[in-house]
Amino acid sequence: MIDRRPAVIVRCAGVADVIAAVKFARAHGMVVAVRGAGHNVAGTSMCDDGLVIDLSAMKGIRVEPQTRTARVEPGVTWAEFGHELQAFGLAATGGFVGTTGVAGLTLGGGLGWMVRKHGLALDNLLSADVVTADGDFLTASDSAHADLFWGLRGAGGNFGIVTSFEFRVHPAGTVLAGMVMHPLSRGRDALRFWRDFESAAPEEVTNGALVFTAPAGLPLPEGLQREPIVGLGGVYAGSLEEGTRACRPLREFGPPAVDMFQPMPYSAAQTMADFLWPRGFLNYWKSSFLKSLSDEAIDTIVDFCAKAPSPRTVVVLEHNGDGAMSRVAEDATAFGHRGWRFNFLITSVWTDAAETEANVRWTREFWDAMQPFLAEAVYVNYLNEVSDENMRAAYGRKYERLAKLKARYDPTNFFSQNANIKPAAVAAGG
Ligand SMILES: Cc1cc2nc3c(=O)[nH]c(=O)nc-3n(C[C@H](O)[C@H](O)[C@H](O)COP(=O)(O)OP(=O)(O)OC[C@H]3O[C@@H](n4cnc5c(N)ncnc54)[C@H](O)[C@@H]3O)c2cc1C
Repeated sequence: MIDRRPAVIVRCAGVADVIAAVKFARAHGMVVAVRGAGHNVAGTSMCDDGLVIDLSAMKGIRVEPQTRTARVEPGVTWAEFGHELQAFGLAATGGFVGTTGVAGLTLGGGLGWMVRKHGLALDNLLSADVVTADGDFLTASDSAHADLFWGLRGAGGNFGIVTSFEFRVHPAGTVLAGMVMHPLSRGRDALRFWRDFESAAPEEVTNGALVFTAPAGLPLPEGLQREPIVGLGGVYAGSLEEGTRACRPLREFGPPAVDMFQPMPYSAAQTMADFLWPRGFLNYWKSSFLKSLSDEAIDTIVDFCAKAPSPRTVVVLEHNGDGAMSRVAEDATAFGHRGWRFNFLITSVWTDAAETEANVRWTREFWDAMQPFLAEAVYVNYLNEVSDENMRAAYGRKYERLAKLKARYDPTNFFSQNANIKPAAVAAGG
């Protein structure tokens, strides 16, 4: 869906290239976009006519097992980071999909398979090296440039270019992970059971509910037709024994048509959902936290999924907001919303541009029907488009503080191709 033509793409090999690119763009008054792994569905890492600072070749990773910390450059994906960590029996919250970039995901929040146990990716960020809008270099942490560090954790792309992330990481090794599958015809009961199971699940459990169709060409597990499937599962971030006990009710309910839970390296769990979102397809997304996951909300989800125009579309319910991320004070970081238990996401995915209208229409009708159940709160990284209204829904009352911080670190809005916060003075002047 993103078809932009920049004038120049600078493929950075290191910090010196980033500084040079920033100074060049400034000297020539160019629009700048910053690209990590290029996963953002709003297409904010590309621009027309301007200069793209492409960080995707900056792939350095260094794990410090003694201190359980790791340093990561901004071109690294979660699958790459997970692979390095696994060699030391360590893991990071990460994303639910391995192809997503560490940079963009962390700077906006970071929901992943250990979010209920260890918080958001940005809750585990210890420091960040940043090239500012003037081409200066500094390190931000709780003890240096603390205001910048606050803003980077949630509204990251607005204040500078992060060239290195320092994370706290966690022991993981082998975990119990996977999902059970039910046909959509039994989806109402399965989703109701999942909601109630999740509400009592220990924090080691980070699970989602997905409605999808097994892609053609992929062998279909025995017991399922090629029809929409409700998949329920995720990761137990603890011992295999406790995980087996904790996940038993979910694995027995129904019983499911298929049970794919099994012990696996955490790095494998991080890529187990990758097949659902291959590169190069057309995407149109809508997302919001849920006020409640009522029976009526579940009925609406099942009804719309039964008539999804594309077999590539995936509808997601994430359970994240009542674990570790909710124990971090709301004002400790710029990240917008910590307390909502469930996040709802329609990822409409299709392959043929001739089908765009049908898929966009279905997504909008589905979205309209879900309105009674949605909170006025969105996760910035799942936004399909950037607008002032969306930014307010993403940051709520923190928006004003972010606008002041933006005026301090980037008064000319040099970093404008992102989930953009307008500098306070500019906003005041219209
Ligand atoms: C298939 C798929 C699955 C996803 N799964 C998850 C998930 O499980 N959990 C989750 O939380 N999110 C998820 N997301 C959303 C994801 O967090 C965002 O799309 C995120 O922006 C991706 O980061 P990126 O580096 O890949 O993207 P990019 O498109 O490269 O960058 C995204 C934004 O961040 C800015 N940026 C990138 N790098 C830097 C940097 N080093 N310094 C400053 N600004 C920078 C860019 O300018 C851009 O505005 C998913 C997205 C997709 C498409």
